[in-house]
Amino acid sequence: MSDVTRATAAELGRMIGAGEVSAEEVTRAHLDRIAAVDGQVHAFLHVDAEGAIAAARAVDSARARGEKLGPLAGVPIAIKDVIATKGVPTTCASKILEGWRPPYDATIMERINAAGMVMLGKTNMDEFAMGSSTEYSAYGPTRNPWDLGRIPGGSGGGSAAAVAAYEAPLAIGTDTGGSIRQPGAVTGTVGSKPTYGGTSRYGLVAFSSSLDTPGPVTRTVLDAALLHEVIGGHDPRDSTSIPAPLPAIVEAARLGATGDLSGVRIGLVREFAGEGAEPGVAAAVREAIEALVKLGAEVVEVSCPHFEYALPAYYLIAPSEASSNLARFDAVRYGLRVGDDGQHSLEEVMSLTREAGFGPEVKRRIMLGTYALSSGYYEAYYGQAQKVRTLITNDFKAAFEQVDVLVSPTTPFVAFPFGSRTSDPYQMYLADLYTIPTNLYGGPAISVPAGLSEGLPVGLQIMAPTMADDRMYRVAAALETVIPPLTPPALSGSNS
Ligand code: GLN
Repeated sequence: MSDVTRATAAELGRMIGAGEVSAEEVTRAHLDRIAAVDGQVHAFLHVDAEGAIAAARAVDSARARGEKLGPLAGVPIAIKDVIATKGVPTTCASKILEGWRPPYDATIMERINAAGMVMLGKTNMDEFAMGSSTEYSAYGPTRNPWDLGRIPGGSGGGSAAAVAAYEAPLAIGTDTGGSIRQPGAVTGTVGSKPTYGGTSRYGLVAFSSSLDTPGPVTRTVLDAALLHEVIGGHDPRDSTSIPAPLPAIVEAARLGATGDLSGVRIGLVREFAGEGAEPGVAAAVREAIEALVKLGAEVVEVSCPHFEYALPAYYLIAPSEASSNLARFDAVRYGLRVGDDGQHSLEEVMSLTREAGFGPEVKRRIMLGTYALSSGYYEAYYGQAQKVRTLITNDFKAAFEQVDVLVSPTTPFVAFPFGSRTSDPYQMYLADLYTIPTNLYGGPAISVPAGLSEGLPVGLQIMAPTMADDRMYRVAAALETVIPPLTPPALSGSNS
């Protein structure tokens, strides 16, 4: 039998359903792969081998009883450590949550479990999802399977690296400013950010509640659509969840796979062209767009004049919301407690705990956000940023009157070496130059492999109107017929 870790999730689901391989065999193959390569990659913070095998056996017994299985039943999945998993450590890669085992599952976890999927473990990330390289994890960085000296993107670098290194066929990420798409781009995987409110935030540890969106990281577009269908749809426990059915995303991915894009209008954002992606990235993206034209798409240039203010607006809104959300880590309710020795007041315990438990980037965000929200500055900073957000939303709406989707590079640069952007926060923030506008608007966007630049993956970003997630899957799947999934150079210890 060929190595099941190389199969797509769709193939694995079919093989398990047909009895060609058991869910337990598939799970064990992935656990073996993790044992062989994760010492180098460090995609996982916690591997739940026992739980995974039990879940796989349950699927195998259900099949033996003649129960009908869903398309992803028995398929293993890795979960970003910002998603609450009942009884399984959930740290957000922070010391402040060390040892915390949530007493409940996030809604998306309930749906993943109900679909018979098998959770392998929890993946590494920048602390509280703040970062673009996974270097801000309190537990050490994840390495990019394409080059172990480079970052796998962030904040969801662990999820993307696990998928790229064949440790899991699928993973869950969360995207507040680009944390699914940017790691997807730099690891040569598919990263899909659904419409805000299209996937539930219940049980996602909040960073910036008006932006946070969970979504799939996969190796193929069809797999992303299949996983999106499992986790998506209305959730009454999330007040911003959209009470409407999901668009027909799996059908759209299948339609795109026919390679026909006739009648599809694609917009290039004029303002992005001047923003300087590095030459190798720009060249790969140009070729990908030419490929879309060959498949029948029509390309036009559109103007989104306020996109240039997206980055500063985001770095006021996201830290403001974070400073409020992170107030709950008070040494009483969760995890770490420092100085509780009878010598310190409650306030001192809180302050000592937050001092010891939060890393430097998280502290920077809390300070930025607290300042932006403080009386006297609120209007000038937070209020102004909210106005910019409206202007960006209007730019998207105007653009989508002319075109079906917008495309751009996902990131201005390929995976960078460790340490090269940590001394200047602005250099790190630039990684999300092209992904942030979509978060401020709330629409869906996907990053798909667009080839290589100097041997490292480049991503094409496809953005669509809110609740038109189907459009991005169609275009993404069409591109895949021309640029097939990328395979990173073999890691030593590889079991293939
Ligand atoms: N890199 C961005 C930040 O640091 C985005 C993070 C995210 O999407 N979670 O805030």
